[in-house]
Amino acid sequence: MTTPAAPQAAAHTDLEARARARLMNTYTRQPLAIASGHGAWVTDAEGRELIDLVAGIAVNVLGHCHPAVQSALSAQAAALIHTSNLYYTSPQLELAELLVDSAFPSRVFFCNSGAEANEAAIKLARKWGKRHRDGAHVIVCTQGSFHGRTLGALAATSNARYRAPFEPLPSGFVHVPYNDLDAMRAAIDAATCAVMLEPVEGESGVHPLDAGMLRELRRICDERDVLLIVDEVQTGMGRTGRWWAHQHDAIAPDIMTIAKGLGGGVPIGAVLAAPRADVFEPGDHGATFGGSPLACAVACAVMRTIAADGLIDNAVSMGDYLAESISALRSRGAPVETVRGRGLMLGVALSADVAPRVGLAALQRGLIVNAVGARTLRLVPPLTINRGEVDEAVQRLAAAFDDVAAQAGA
Ligand SMILES: *Cc1c(COP(=O)(O)O)cnc(C)c1O
Repeated sequence: MTTPAAPQAAAHTDLEARARARLMNTYTRQPLAIASGHGAWVTDAEGRELIDLVAGIAVNVLGHCHPAVQSALSAQAAALIHTSNLYYTSPQLELAELLVDSAFPSRVFFCNSGAEANEAAIKLARKWGKRHRDGAHVIVCTQGSFHGRTLGALAATSNARYRAPFEPLPSGFVHVPYNDLDAMRAAIDAATCAVMLEPVEGESGVHPLDAGMLRELRRICDERDVLLIVDEVQTGMGRTGRWWAHQHDAIAPDIMTIAKGLGGGVPIGAVLAAPRADVFEPGDHGATFGGSPLACAVACAVMRTIAADGLIDNAVSMGDYLAESISALRSRGAPVETVRGRGLMLGVALSADVAPRVGLAALQRGLIVNAVGARTLRLVPPLTINRGEVDEAVQRLAAAFDDVAAQAGA
């Protein structure tokens, strides 16, 4: 029971104690309990409003509780929520058509998360290798990659800290340095069936591929007859200034995986495969919840809203503006080394190991950012964010930098 005197002030500490008792210890949570959200803003348990530059980790592309998401959810919930994939439903087909129109000639498999999308991609590549490349099964991945937490996706992920407790992982994955074509070329051999990478590595601190790299990789994959898999789970849905980040290089992959922002907050993932890689047959793969009418109707609304409201252009202009505004804090003594990224997927590289402290100070100042590692802040705000909100966020971030400097000086 809460005491009437300060019923809400203790909310996040209350939840913290209950979480310790009843939730597995898998997440390092910030000292914040979010009660509600609207657009780029959330309200905490004490009624304080914070600007949210994390947006559920690149999930809430339309911000919190967008009317288009709400009305698609309630309309579809009143009609049909789940059927299994034993039957046809039109929201699933509408979404598949929208996705293929936005991407490259392909067909779609629906699932529920990024890891699951990557599992499907790995299975496609293995089956393709078995059929078309004499049993080749090795997938060449990159250092700094993140593809998810299931065993297959984890085997494709490079971070030793995530992998080590669960070894042995499935074999057949090698990791080469990111942005290194020579290393990639050298790693591809007769056993290789595919190359798999993120156009911008998100989880490891927002590291973009150099311009033109994907075009070169596409050429190498064609030359060596292996599949190119791009993981657009975080880079997709217009965040980098195109529907899909690989479109900056005017290429098409053989397989693309998506999730995070696709449902605007409702879980859904998908895999697109070009005809060459589209090798699944009945019985090869499935997902009970995959492509439910509920999730698909919402995802259709998300895609239509992004298109109708010009949010991909907004991601470019607000991304540039946010990056410039944060870079400009350097002249005021903020420990900002550089701002990396593309569109509204930004990594603020700091010149000292203060990212977690800046994150906490920012919370106190009413701003949500995500510290990845000791020296990087990841910013993946909603694509709906406007100039006034960027200005307010940057002011709050500047105050957080000042607070951390004052702590250090004290
Ligand atoms: C988040 C992420 C995943 C994993 O997605 P989940 O939905 O958490 O399984 C995979 N790949 C990339 C690039 C991601 O950012």
